[in-house]
Amino acid sequence: MTTPNEKVLCSRCQRECVPSGCTTGYGIDPAGHKFCFDCCANRDRDSMRSNGDAVLYLVKDQVNGNWLVTNWPASLHFGVCARRVGRHNMGRERVDVLFHGSDGRVWHGGPDDNGEAVLTLMLPTED
Ligand SMILES: [Zn+2]
Repeated sequence: MTTPNEKVLCSRCQRECVPSGCTTGYGIDPAGHKFCFDCCANRDRDSMRSNGDAVLYLVKDQVNGNWLVTNWPASLHFGVCARRVGRHNMGRERVDVLFHGSDGRVWHGGPDDNGEAVLTLMLPTED
């Protein structure tokens, strides 16, 4: 637990995590390390490159109505180039998207087992 006035330093870049709006200003990994929002984005980007996955979410831009793929806490954004709505095997709607990752390749995003998060899977590259 941290008290409101206690400074939180990012485990990766050592900068102070500054609360903004109603957020704490940091994310926590399963091991309890705290990361500033910039480092959350860098960690997700690195995970996409090295592991071929990251937990990302599909959101609709409230300003222009475009679909975006973003991480939590929305410090990483990818524009959606294709979105397809079909049937999920649980009888719900299933949404699949294609987007360009920061590596320049086209990624596929689809629902996780609960149909909630957009879980990204790298498409095989064709050389
Ligand atoms: Zn950081």
